[in-house]
Amino acid sequence: MARTHNLGFPRIGAQRELKFALESYWKGQSTRDELKAEGARLRRRHWQDQAGLDLVPVGDFAFYDQVLDMSFTLGNLPERVQGFHGDALDNYFRVARGRSAEEHAQCCGGVAAGEMTKWFDTNYHYIVPEFTAATEFRLDASRLLEQLDEARAQGVKAKPVIVGPVTYLALGKAKDDSDRLALLPRLLPVYAELLETLAAQGVEWVQIDEPLLVTELDADWQHAFNTAYHHLKSSRVKLLLATYFGQLAENQYLAANLPVAGLHIDAINGRDDIVPLLNLLPSHKVLSLGVINGRNIWKTDLDAVLDWLEPLAERLDDRLWIAPSCSLLHVPVDLASEHTLDAGITSWLAFALQKLDELKLLATALNQGRAAVAAELAANRAAVDARRSSPRVHNPAVQAALAAVTSALGRRHSPYPVRAARQAALLKLPPYPTTTIGSFPQTAEIRQARSRYKAGELDEAGYKAAMRAEIARSVREQEALGLDVLVHGEAERNDMVEYFGEQLDGYAFSQFGWVQSYGSRCVKPPILFGDISRPRPMTVDWITYAQSLTGKPMKGMLTGPVTLLNWSFVRDDQPRSASCTQLALAIREEVLDLEKAGMRVIQIDEAALREGLPLRRSQWKDYLDWAVESFRITANGVADETQIHTHMCYSEFNDIIASIAGMDADVITIETSRSDMELLDAFDDFKYPNEIGPGVYDIHSPNIPATAHIVQLMRKAAERIPAQRLWVNPDCGLKTRQWSEVIPALTNMVAAARTLRAST
Ligand code: GLN
Ligand code: ZN
Repeated sequence: MARTHNLGFPRIGAQRELKFALESYWKGQSTRDELKAEGARLRRRHWQDQAGLDLVPVGDFAFYDQVLDMSFTLGNLPERVQGFHGDALDNYFRVARGRSAEEHAQCCGGVAAGEMTKWFDTNYHYIVPEFTAATEFRLDASRLLEQLDEARAQGVKAKPVIVGPVTYLALGKAKDDSDRLALLPRLLPVYAELLETLAAQGVEWVQIDEPLLVTELDADWQHAFNTAYHHLKSSRVKLLLATYFGQLAENQYLAANLPVAGLHIDAINGRDDIVPLLNLLPSHKVLSLGVINGRNIWKTDLDAVLDWLEPLAERLDDRLWIAPSCSLLHVPVDLASEHTLDAGITSWLAFALQKLDELKLLATALNQGRAAVAAELAANRAAVDARRSSPRVHNPAVQAALAAVTSALGRRHSPYPVRAARQAALLKLPPYPTTTIGSFPQTAEIRQARSRYKAGELDEAGYKAAMRAEIARSVREQEALGLDVLVHGEAERNDMVEYFGEQLDGYAFSQFGWVQSYGSRCVKPPILFGDISRPRPMTVDWITYAQSLTGKPMKGMLTGPVTLLNWSFVRDDQPRSASCTQLALAIREEVLDLEKAGMRVIQIDEAALREGLPLRRSQWKDYLDWAVESFRITANGVADETQIHTHMCYSEFNDIIASIAGMDADVITIETSRSDMELLDAFDDFKYPNEIGPGVYDIHSPNIPATAHIVQLMRKAAERIPAQRLWVNPDCGLKTRQWSEVIPALTNMVAAARTLRAST
């Protein structure tokens, strides 16, 4: 008999209830008890939603982040919040969000938030555990035990979920550069105590997450796994060691032989692990297969899964468990909430609840035979077949264009030095040219006009007029500031991906397809379901209008194909690279139309290029090759005189600099202000030959940068990059700022550029 279980459930709520409860509590509009009550309500509902599974996760609920929860469970609080006398939940939020020094001058004096970073290759962000050589751990199982009690009182077949010790250490950062692994001997007794506490509560199975096992491991980390699980092996609970997001590959032997009672693997990304594991896995161990994709929103082809799963079920019998590939945290909750998606596309999708239904169906088919669920399987087959053969998915013209792609498409006519001279002659920019990254403040008026337009209260002409007025304001302000290359300000864009997705064929949008990004923040990734084409120009009218208001060059502003891909739910019926190339061909048409309309500078943002890097380094090259080629196809059809910019909002380039240079943009703007220009070391002459705009101030902060500070940063930059190749600009777009912050900040930035020019 195959058993079913789940690794984790989205906690934000189908209507984002947790988001609203958190934000209201943070604003002081509700009490802590009300927030806790909402948490309990959500847990109850989510356990009910998972009823019918043989084991249901408990402890996967977090008010902010499951890794931060684990830090509190292990008593690993950053030193700056230790000894706080207030409520524990408030202290947890202090680490999660920080407290500003100004507002808390009288009380705690403010506290810095914990650093946040991406959870493996997902768009979820966790709070990085902090260590020093002196870190001590002390068990606080209260949260887990409360939730366990609660679950039991509701009759839930509870399986507590915790982050495993090795992954926990690997996810953290040693603030004093000490060796994190040296903490393992201090950490393991606390884990042992935690397991013992759970055993004393009568818990049978504990899911211990070690996704680190799908990454390349140095010998000392491999060794840490052995040390850790041998230390924990005398525990009275059974451990299900959960790996996900990829293949175990060379870690198969290690994972199979750790002394635990069961192993979960991602059977979507790690299908190739299964056969070798069947031979490696000791015969008393449970093998849990993640057969439903926890990372995308497509219906599972149940027939196809059963075809390969049935022989395994026969062979493994009671030792086979089935589950989603990973926690369902990464998908929206319920497709039934969707009323605006058309029925055709809806019938191809499965969100968290639908995925659990699929799981139960598979279990019934395995345990009682396919005939027991013949009608459900037939319905699934019909939906899967309909998607496979739908003319909405397959567009012969796009396929033909894809087949005709050659490397010539991605090549500029002349090398950078030739282009640079031609562009300089045309643009006549001063040394240290100034520009911004694209967006200007999304004011209350802009948001209001947009929501009135969406609600049908404002007609299209009225909406356009409102947006044009905002564009005109941006242009006016930029001229007054004396910036050199202007932007239109992106007033008409709600989001840099959604805006383009809405205008491309092959994309669909859900109404409630929210996925937690961090804390109370959610994103609603567009759904790339079919061959991508651009029925008509998307930005040309807005940009030409903006250009008509000024004699300065106006930058055309686009989102690049790699970013569109990485921030969407994408097709599973073709490689990501194929979808990316289709996006590239569509955005290329827009680039060429902008050029035709007279734009001399075009920026193509690739904010998410780095995010797409595979977990395993050995796969980086393949990804970077097609990602860079997609950018090149998008950008490089223009004449030598047209200046291509790209923008990336992060600051780690060392390991990918050759690929970034390979994009061959004329100018790249990057985020550097917080790293004090040191990261420009990655961009020395040999490695990066084109122009660079290192961000000179942090747009996340309301602080106004001082002119002298900007001058000093740029002088540092000029020690690394020849001055004639430097631009002056902020770290990123300004949409989250107020005009009252933007004006003085840019005034100082322009003044800094003038100072620099005077001294060159
Ligand atoms: N052009 C975009 C903006 O300025 C870039 C945003 C980003 O890189 N995240 O808002
Ligand atoms: Zn950015």
